[in-house]
Amino acid sequence: MSGERFSAGQDGARTMMGDSVDMPATTGTDTADPAAVTGRDRVGMPPVRAVDHWVQYAVDRLDLDPRDADWMRNRLLEYAQAHPGVFEGDVLEDDAVMGLLSAPPSRVQDTFAAIEDVDGSMAAMRWFYRYGVSNGYVKQARLARNVRFEGSGLVVTINKAKPEFADTHAAALANSVDGSYAQCTICHANEGLASRGKRTLRTVPVTLGGEAWFWQFSPYGYFREHGICVNRTHVPMHVDRMAFVRLLDFVDRFPGYFLGCNAALPRIGGSILSHDHYQGGGGILPMQRAVALHALRVPDAVVETLDWPASAVRVVSRSREAVVDTCERIRAAWTAYADPALGVEPVGPDGEPQSSLAPSARITERGYEMNIVLRNNAVSETYPLGVFHAHPEYFFVKREGIGLIEAQGLFILPARLERQLGQLEDVLAAGGPLSRELSAFALAAEEVRDAMGGNGGPGPAEADRARVRALVRDEIASICRRILGNIAVFPDEPALYDFLVGALR
Ligand SMILES: [Zn+2]
Repeated sequence: MSGERFSAGQDGARTMMGDSVDMPATTGTDTADPAAVTGRDRVGMPPVRAVDHWVQYAVDRLDLDPRDADWMRNRLLEYAQAHPGVFEGDVLEDDAVMGLLSAPPSRVQDTFAAIEDVDGSMAAMRWFYRYGVSNGYVKQARLARNVRFEGSGLVVTINKAKPEFADTHAAALANSVDGSYAQCTICHANEGLASRGKRTLRTVPVTLGGEAWFWQFSPYGYFREHGICVNRTHVPMHVDRMAFVRLLDFVDRFPGYFLGCNAALPRIGGSILSHDHYQGGGGILPMQRAVALHALRVPDAVVETLDWPASAVRVVSRSREAVVDTCERIRAAWTAYADPALGVEPVGPDGEPQSSLAPSARITERGYEMNIVLRNNAVSETYPLGVFHAHPEYFFVKREGIGLIEAQGLFILPARLERQLGQLEDVLAAGGPLSRELSAFALAAEEVRDAMGGNGGPGPAEADRARVRALVRDEIASICRRILGNIAVFPDEPALYDFLVGALR
């Protein structure tokens, strides 16, 4: 066995070749980090031995019935014959091989249901998440490489896997398909679809508001156990009374997760508006923890204005009905609200509604909490891309629409920023002018220089590089907070409070 890189300490692997003496059997899923297993460890391994490894891997982690082990080995050997070298690459990243190894959706769903029966819904979700990591659908290793920092009360991530779109039209085009099969990228018909690299996608059914929906984890999650909940039917996004009911149905069944809904409007909502879906998972968005400034009492519920740069309220109650009723009253009032002085009009020049809201539900010790951001999609001569959109002076950080997740405090910035911020740090640490590529960062550079002490403090040349990095990150987070100020539909909290008083009268 010398020279083989079966490392039990690393991944608990064992072969089925009879030489497993140095590879203690493990139970797999709970003891090892599945992300630590990559095909690279198998480089140079004869195909039969590599196939044995992956068959055992599937028994340990992918719910392969041991009775199917020989059958699976033969399927893999056949595949390896047709695709020489396939087991020498990064097998975990190979959608075709991992798709073969993954259990059929029915078995995944049966196991999920069995765990939910015995250990509860959150244990079932955690098993399902580990399943997605183990079968390569959730790109945990890539997620770990994303840049993430906190500042100005926000969480900022630089997502290296996500493409940047100049506008929502481009984003919508990227998510559109030719229309012949699996109408969009989140339709249930994608489960196992080779042409979109979704052979490893698995879903579990969820009933929301009496309708059939399903849950799946995101391959490139923005936060812990990030997933989407999708309508089984391809119907457009919409936020109405039933949306509040569905969000509460979800957190009732999965109280360890939150679930939220994008405002169903172009520019300010999700990139996929053609198919109704929600976003949620195990993370807590910064706005969900924002401090309340004022509270209004309504029957069986409390409505709070939040210390948040966007226009944000929280409805709290132990009664589901009170939460739904109160949220619906706020929604109805907001979607009819007009204030020309603020540039808020409920209907756009094309006659389409342009006010909506983005709610997220979770359960805390206070009961149900619905965190709501009021949104409006108006445009003006000054802001043709959206009055309540990131303003152009901040496009160097973010020019895409600010959806639910960002409006509630978790920013997902484009991959280019990692390189650009590194260059900016170089310039600020060494002194000297900004390069042409960095010219858009003049505002950030000036503010960081001010923070470094300006002309009176230590010169840039002496600045400690780590301190420069911390200041640059603080600056980016501060700009993200100003972007949230851009999307605020009310200029301040008293104006928001006045609106609520009218809405809930
Ligand atoms: Zn669809």
